[in-house]
Amino acid sequence: MTFLTVGLLPPERGRVTYGTRMDFAPTPENEQIREAAYKFGQNEIVPGLRDRDREAKSDRTMLEQMGAAGFLGVSVPESYSGLGADYVSLGIVCEELERADTSARVALSVHNGLHSMTLMQWGTEEQKGRWLPDLATGKRIGAFGLTEPNAGSDAANLKTTAKKDGDSYVLNGQKAWISLSDYADQFLVITKLAEGDPAKPRFAAFIVDRTTPGFSSRPIHGKLGVRAGNTGEIFFDNMRVEADRMLGGEGDGFKVAMSALDHGRYTVAAGAVGIITACLDACTKYANERTVGGEPIGRKQLVQQMIASMVQGREIGRLLYYKVGWMKNTGQRHTRECSMAKWVNCAAAFDAANKAVEVHGAYGFCDEFPVERYFRNSRGAIIYEGTHEIHTVMQAEYEMGYRSDKPLKHTLPTWPFDA
Ligand SMILES: Cc1cc2nc3c(=O)[nH]c(=O)nc-3n(C[C@H](O)[C@H](O)[C@H](O)COP(=O)(O)OP(=O)(O)OC[C@H]3O[C@@H](n4cnc5c(N)ncnc54)[C@H](O)[C@@H]3O)c2cc1C
Repeated sequence: MTFLTVGLLPPERGRVTYGTRMDFAPTPENEQIREAAYKFGQNEIVPGLRDRDREAKSDRTMLEQMGAAGFLGVSVPESYSGLGADYVSLGIVCEELERADTSARVALSVHNGLHSMTLMQWGTEEQKGRWLPDLATGKRIGAFGLTEPNAGSDAANLKTTAKKDGDSYVLNGQKAWISLSDYADQFLVITKLAEGDPAKPRFAAFIVDRTTPGFSSRPIHGKLGVRAGNTGEIFFDNMRVEADRMLGGEGDGFKVAMSALDHGRYTVAAGAVGIITACLDACTKYANERTVGGEPIGRKQLVQQMIASMVQGREIGRLLYYKVGWMKNTGQRHTRECSMAKWVNCAAAFDAANKAVEVHGAYGFCDEFPVERYFRNSRGAIIYEGTHEIHTVMQAEYEMGYRSDKPLKHTLPTWPFDA
């Protein structure tokens, strides 16, 4: 095993890794999970994908298959019916499933990352016991509602309200661009509390059920990418939600949302590495077969430059997300590192997909080859879970000392679980 002793280096502002050790060697369990996720992706997701993407067709089947295979509870403790694998394993599953298709990884991001892990971090024992086992086994599907038609990057400007009424809250409002909007059984929804000073809004997070009266959803059509996945709007019309469905307390809603993004962004960063690998799979094959001037284009140095750049993105990307996985395992705050991994990896994936289209020439411009899909799908990840600009600003602010991460009141369970 290789150890890199970070403790010998001078500390950097805001970093919490000083004095600790990082181990980059994948465990046998990591390798086993990679193999299983790779096989699942290639055998269960890739067949028929071109047609599903063309026709923008999605249903719950893939989610149910992922649940049956254990992927919806990868890093959920066994005591809650999960696989109990470490957080690096979750990243590896995201990587291998996005190597097959982004829509599968998006499902993991919202169900495992944004929903279940946030419940693991913020839920009471009763709430975890009530929801986690069904989520971990895919009996129930979870999603996440933060964005609204007029509040994306500026999430604090959200307008959905929760008004206290006896032992419950009444929700009114609308969320937009919600992944799995039509299939999820329950949503982690961020609301603004109706009472209080409008100049100092307070937020609350609830786990709401789609069967509750007042809930409705509507799909969004005509998307550029993630066409084999479901995205839409959800609406709350005087929807009554019991107080015991609140995660954290009154006023904690925004912190809950930011914790969710620490988990969602991790899965997006890991998935981006999978797209780069898919680009490499397609390009190394094509560049060996396609000949120009009597030799395979893979022998042309400028084509090699594009392949080398993808290899570079994959290597850097994997190290960045492994590091965040390790920080999750060891219970360290990782908002800065997670933003870095998401920012760098999503840009690298889009760059790799753009180059993959180039390597394929005109054949990269139609769906006979998968690279045009990688190009469209990788574009989306530069927008969701914080746009490229938002992460750029975050990284500059950390470095300038304008932003810092304080210890959290509620932390994700460290790994190994139940130890
Ligand atoms: C496929 C897909 C799936 C999604 N799934 C979900 C989901 O499951 N749940 C959910 O809640 N949301 C989801 N989203 C929404 C997504 O998180 C938002 O679209 C994203 O946060 C950006 O918000 P916006 O679209 O309102 O863009 P805006 O915030 O309006 O940004 C528009 C432009 O302005 C720039 N900009 C904004 N603010 C700043 C700033 N301060 N400094 C510099 N530039 C800035 C942005 O970078 C961008 O270029 C999804 C989106 C997509 C595309």
